[in-house]
Formats: sequence, C-alpha cells, structure tokens
Amino acid sequence: MSLRTTMPEGEPASVSTETPIDLPWLVAPLRTTLATRAAHALLLYGSGNVGQLELALALAKGWLCEEDSRALPDRPCGRCASCRLHAARSHPDLLVLVPEALRDALGWDAGGEGEESGEGGKRKPSKDIRVEAVRAAIAFATTTSARGRGKFVVVHPAERMNDVAASAFLKTLEEPPGDARFLLCSAAPDALLPTIRSRCQHVPLAVPGAKQATAWLEGQGIVDAAVLLAASGGHPQDAVELASRGIGTALWLALPRSVAQGDATPLLGWPLPLAVDALQKLCHDALCVACGGSPRYFPRDRLDPGGSFAALLRWSRELARVATEAEHPWSVDLAIESLVGQGREALKTSRSGDREGRGLSIHSRR
Ligand SMILES: [Zn+2]
Repeated sequence: MSLRTTMPEGEPASVSTETPIDLPWLVAPLRTTLATRAAHALLLYGSGNVGQLELALALAKGWLCEEDSRALPDRPCGRCASCRLHAARSHPDLLVLVPEALRDALGWDAGGEGEESGEGGKRKPSKDIRVEAVRAAIAFATTTSARGRGKFVVVHPAERMNDVAASAFLKTLEEPPGDARFLLCSAAPDALLPTIRSRCQHVPLAVPGAKQATAWLEGQGIVDAAVLLAASGGHPQDAVELASRGIGTALWLALPRSVAQGDATPLLGWPLPLAVDALQKLCHDALCVACGGSPRYFPRDRLDPGGSFAALLRWSRELARVATEAEHPWSVDLAIESLVGQGREALKTSRSGDREGRGLSIHSRR
C-alpha cells in the first residue's frame, strides 16, 4: 500500500481559521491534549463514533502547524504551509492508516495499489488493517521529518489491526522511533492488546450532551434532529450518516409498526449491517418496554406495550448471529425479510404477553 493511500484527512472545507475542529464537543479535548506534552503514543477512545478520527487529525494538524506566533492550544491556524498541505491531504509527515474497506467507503484515494489478489484478479478490500500497511507505517515513522516537526501516524480504528499487524505495531511502541508520534483511535479499546493500551497516553472521549449534539445536527440541516440522535444512540455523526442514507425521521418513527406488521419494505435496499442494527435497536427497546423500562432508540409512544420477552430474546439472538456473520451468501433483501418476519412474531408475542414466553425467559436466565 502506498503512502498516498493512507494520507487523507477530513474535508478541507471543514477547516477554518476560527474553528480548529468542526465537532464542537471536541474543541475542549483538542485544546487540552494539544496543551499537554504528548506522549509518543496516544489512545483516543470513546463508546461508538464520537469523532476519534477527526480529533486525531486535528491533533496532528495542530502539532504540525508552523504558525509559531500562536500558542499551541490555539493551533492549527489553518493558513500556514503545513496546514494547507494537511488540508490537501498531502502532508509529507502525516500518515493515516485505515482498513481498505473503510478507505473505499470514505472515497479516499486508493493510489492504484493494494487491490490485486496475486492471481490476476481483484481482491476484496480488507476490513482489517493489514500487517503490510503497518510495516509501511513503521517505515514511514522511522524516516526523518520532512518539515521538521516530527512524524505522525494515525491508526483508525486501532482494533482493526489483526493479530500479526498488532504484534508488529507493538514492537514499534516498545522502541518508538525518535520524533514519531502515534495516534490510535478506538471505539473498543478492550479489543486492543493490553500491552498496546498500556503504552499509550489515554484520551477518553464522552458522547456529547443531547443539547449540544442536537444543535450541531440542526446546523447540519437535519430536521427533527432529536429523533435521529436517539436513533443513533446519541452519536451525532451516526445520525448524519442515517440522514445521508435517506433514513429520515418519518421512516424511523414508522419502523416499529412496519416490523410489527411484518412489512420489510422500509428496510429493503439498506445495507444488511445497517438494517440489522436498526432491528437490534427495535428489539432492544421492545425488551426494555417488556421489562417495564424506558426505550432508548424509539419514542415510547411508537412501541406497543410488551408482555413476554422470550420471543424477543430469540429474535435478539438471531439478530446477533446475523450481525456477527462476516459474509452473507444469500440475498440481503431475503435476509431482511426473514428477520422482519421473526420480528413480527416476536412483537406479536410480546403484545399478547404469552405465559410460555415468561416461563422461558425466566428459565433462560438461570
Ligand atoms: Zn498552521
């Protein structure tokens, strides 16, 4: 994989001289982290996507910024030669390591490499960060800084390094090259090697408050932002992604009733992981209601009152099984219809409050 393939960053338009990062909940972590003397490796982590990659890129940009008249926490300036190189995704001292599949999803330049299977055919883009890419990053980190402010390697998401890649990376953390710094992004730090975690300075990131997140979403042109924010578990960037996929408030609010009626139409055409995620959220909320609790992803008045949850538990297990399958040999729409059919039965059983279900649910927890 060429370095070009791994050197993108956020949209240049998002960089302004006034706002060092356009995710307001990250302004304080950015300033605080820039103000501290950085360890050679930082672990930026939070539950789900709270902007770990954006923060890592802004930190690298701040440390690489060449506007010396500004105190460090007020960088990046957005105007100096380094900031312009960063915005053009061509800074010679920054390398961003992401899985090929994510790079393709983000529309980042593939550089014309890394796709050959070795047998003359195209290889499917890897969802992991491969050892070859890690070795290239290590080689990059050991070269001299082109602009004299050190070398930066962003790894996102760090838990996607497979075992071989993680071992290779660990060796570098144990003996870090002189002026290189590593910024590891993670939504699942427990999935990292403990030895990698222990060698990093930790930067925990919280999910933004609902008020701040809703205001930001409204600024992005999202209508009824609170509904999509709840649909995304409080993660505003995921709410934007839902909206960008055409999943609006009306569709989301209608989903519980559609599934209860066995109507998979609103979900057809969705990528399977997204459809399964939506059904898992519906199942989660139906279970909460069945237990007398509060739903998290759907408004309470959109959910029928529950009685038993044995059928919901069975549906939940099936959804979890499908969610963890790496490859799906069958049609995506057929899979969604099957899961919705099971959901209809589960939600119907839930409404009827069958006694068998209650007994099974108690038994299943023993
Ligand atoms: Zn600058």
